[in-house]
Amino acid sequence: MARLGSWIETFPQGIYVRPADAWIDPSQPKPRALVTHGHGDHARGGHGAVLATPETLAIMGVRYGDQNGQPVAYGESVRVGDVDVSFVPAGHVLGSAQIVLEHKGEKIVVSGDYKRREDPTCHEFVPVPCDVFITEATFGLPVFHHPDTAGEIDRLLHRLHSDESRCVLVGAYALGKAQRVICELRRRGHDDPIYIHGALERMCALYEEHGIPLGELRLATGVPKDELRGRIVIAPPGALNDRWSRRLPDPVTAMASGWMRIRQRARQANVELPLVISDHADWHELTCTIRELKPTEVWITHGREEALKHWCLTHQIKACELNLVGYEDEDDD
Ligand SMILES: [Zn+2]
Ligand SMILES: [Zn+2]
Repeated sequence: MARLGSWIETFPQGIYVRPADAWIDPSQPKPRALVTHGHGDHARGGHGAVLATPETLAIMGVRYGDQNGQPVAYGESVRVGDVDVSFVPAGHVLGSAQIVLEHKGEKIVVSGDYKRREDPTCHEFVPVPCDVFITEATFGLPVFHHPDTAGEIDRLLHRLHSDESRCVLVGAYALGKAQRVICELRRRGHDDPIYIHGALERMCALYEEHGIPLGELRLATGVPKDELRGRIVIAPPGALNDRWSRRLPDPVTAMASGWMRIRQRARQANVELPLVISDHADWHELTCTIRELKPTEVWITHGREEALKHWCLTHQIKACELNLVGYEDEDDD
C-alpha cells in the first residue's frame, strides 16, 4: 500500500497537491493556488487562479487588487482535477479556512492558522476527522497558554480609566486582531468612539460590510491631542514607536499578541501593557485538537514543530515536520 498522503508533496514554497495541480498558500506566484486566509504570509498576489472563501477573496482584493478568484463558501465542495476540495472554518480571522482534500479514499486536512477560542469576528473552528492533519504550530510549546480574552480586555479598560489624561495605544494587526480587539471592547461595554490609524480603515470597513459591527470608529490622524485623552487608539504594531504616535497624549503603549506571553518580547517592543490575545491555538488547543481529530498522521508546519512532534509520538500518533519557509506569523508577531 502506498504511503499515506503520497499524492501531496511539500516544497519550501508550499504544499503541492499533485492530482489537483494546485498549491496551498504558496509563497510564490503559481498557476493555481488554494488559499486558507488573507494574512500576507499565506495569501500572496500574482497567482493564475485562486480558490478561497468569498471573504478571503475580498481581503485579497483589498490588498492586491482583483484576483482571478473562484469563491468556495464554507461547506461547499468543488472538484479540482482529481481531488474533492472544501473549505471549513478555522476560527482564525474573517474567512479563514482549513482546506479539506479528499482523494482515493484518503482525507487530508490542512489547518492553515487556527484557534479554538470563541471570536466574535469569525466563524468558529469546525473539527474534521481525517487521516492526515497538517497542523500549524506557531505556539507549539507547553509554555504557551493564552489567558481568557475578556480578562485581557478588562485589564486594558482598567488601565484606560485609571488615568484619563492619557490614551491607550494598542498595537494590533490590521487584519483580524484589530477588529477582534474592537469587538471584544464593545462586548465589555466600551461604547466610546475608538480611534484608528489610517492603515486599519479599509480592513475595518470590509469587516463591517461582512456583517461584523465595530461601533463608532474615528480616524486618529489629525485629531487634536486633547480629544484623544481617555481614549483607545488602535494602530498596526509598526506604528507604536514611530513618529505617528508622538502626536498622541502621553500614550500607554499596549500590544495584543500571543507573543506578549514572553516578557522579553514586550520589553523589546517598549510595550508597557502587554495583552496576551492570540489568533492561534495555544499548546492546549493544539494537543486537544489532535486528540479530537484522531488522525493517523500529523504533519507539522509553521512554528515550533519539535515539541508537538514529540507529543504526538508519545501519544502513539505518527508525526513529521514539514519544512516550509516564508510564514512569518504576520497576525501574531
Ligand atoms: Zn494567519
Ligand atoms: Zn500564518
